[in-house]
Amino acid sequence: MRFQVSQVMDAIEQRLTTDVAGAQAVVDLGEIVRNVELDRGRSANLVRVGMVIDALGRYLVDDGALLYGVAERSLLSEPALTSKERMVLGRWTDQGLIEVTPTIGDRVVEVADLTGLPLIVTRPYPDLVKRFGWLADGDGRVLQLTFRAGVAALRPMDDPTGEPAGAPVTGSGPAVGRAKVPRPEPATAEPAESAPETESESEPESEPVRSLPLPVEVFGARGAARIARTRVSWRRFRRAEPSHPGLLLREWRCEGFECPAFGEQRRIGQPVPRMRGDVPVCPRHDEPVVAVGPRLPAYPVSIVVDDLPRRRLVVRGGQPVRIGRAVGDGAGDGSGDGAGDGAGDAGAEGDQPEELVSVARWLHEAAAARVSLVHLQLAAADDGLVVTDVSENGSIIWMRDRPDDPGTTRPLHGDTCTLGEWDSVELYTGIELVRGDRRVAAALGRDGLGSVLMDAPTAVHKQV
Ligand SMILES: [Zn+2]
Repeated sequence: MRFQVSQVMDAIEQRLTTDVAGAQAVVDLGEIVRNVELDRGRSANLVRVGMVIDALGRYLVDDGALLYGVAERSLLSEPALTSKERMVLGRWTDQGLIEVTPTIGDRVVEVADLTGLPLIVTRPYPDLVKRFGWLADGDGRVLQLTFRAGVAALRPMDDPTGEPAGAPVTGSGPAVGRAKVPRPEPATAEPAESAPETESESEPESEPVRSLPLPVEVFGARGAARIARTRVSWRRFRRAEPSHPGLLLREWRCEGFECPAFGEQRRIGQPVPRMRGDVPVCPRHDEPVVAVGPRLPAYPVSIVVDDLPRRRLVVRGGQPVRIGRAVGDGAGDGSGDGAGDGAGDAGAEGDQPEELVSVARWLHEAAAARVSLVHLQLAAADDGLVVTDVSENGSIIWMRDRPDDPGTTRPLHGDTCTLGEWDSVELYTGIELVRGDRRVAAALGRDGLGSVLMDAPTAVHKQV
């Protein structure tokens, strides 16, 4: 049997975080795990979390999309889960990869409100609309999980047309020519919707590329147009404004025993406290948290390979990250799917070695010959992400003034540079680092997106 539960769980684990700097959407895990509609399987199944992660990845066109999952404590002892699944949930909790709270109440909606993250739902929350008006304003902050043709998908809730710009891509990869998408309304389009670059003539069997079920703001090109290929877009990827921005500017401390959310041993960036009236409290322990200083700057970074974000990491103040071809070195990023590199993201033991993130698995021979074992160092400063080239062959900085700017380049070799908000840095043609909150738009190529469920014997990954 190909189905390897532990592999799937490891793959899911890589895509969970409660670090608000890295997360891209928030969801009530119980609502998902117990949702029989998703696969018509047993009454509770942890694999369903992977379906949501895959749906988020397709929606954002991001193979490294990170999910902020909140679980009511009762889920950890849910009898319909296998003992293995309960154990995995406990591990995720202890590592701070998911948030566990005594009662779920309004917590997921609150997290979305306090952080500006999109909220993934399977049902409306009518009783909370009065408090959180954005739940019903149709502005795209609420993403409805739907299940069609064997695939879970996300779509903005309350879209009057029923065919939002972000119509989900069905199947595991790009469904070229299968779905009609209305031409973008000029009023809703971002500047310079120069999609024509994607109109390749190399696929005579396909319909024109404009019928790709891609979001209108995602564009780019592969192949011949490589040199001007990457555009920066942000419309669907931007967050809403946090309702209490001050909460995210402070580092909080909870005195609860080994608190995975606000304890001293936490290795990743912090979540957002729960508000009890005006008092910030720990969502796990329900006790007030105290501010222990300003929160250090943190920047999400996407590793973009051939125009598709493949992995997302967070670079935090005081914790530089090295990027290169090297594998191992405590980061353990040598495995095929990255399942072993949790140490880097989720917290290494003891003296934390400087994180090393490997790009080895995306390098073809020519690229491997040019990319150094340690190629770049990334550091978070108050004024931006600082890139230092330590490679043998150098890197390229792509400088852009605005989202649709094709950019100009300059070399970076043995030197340091602070990336502008729309800039990116290229290790080798097609292997690029971009600010994860200033997305480089991706074009779906033939490779398509991966799946955390690739070994699961379900229809989830099946092409339709
Ligand atoms: Zn706590």
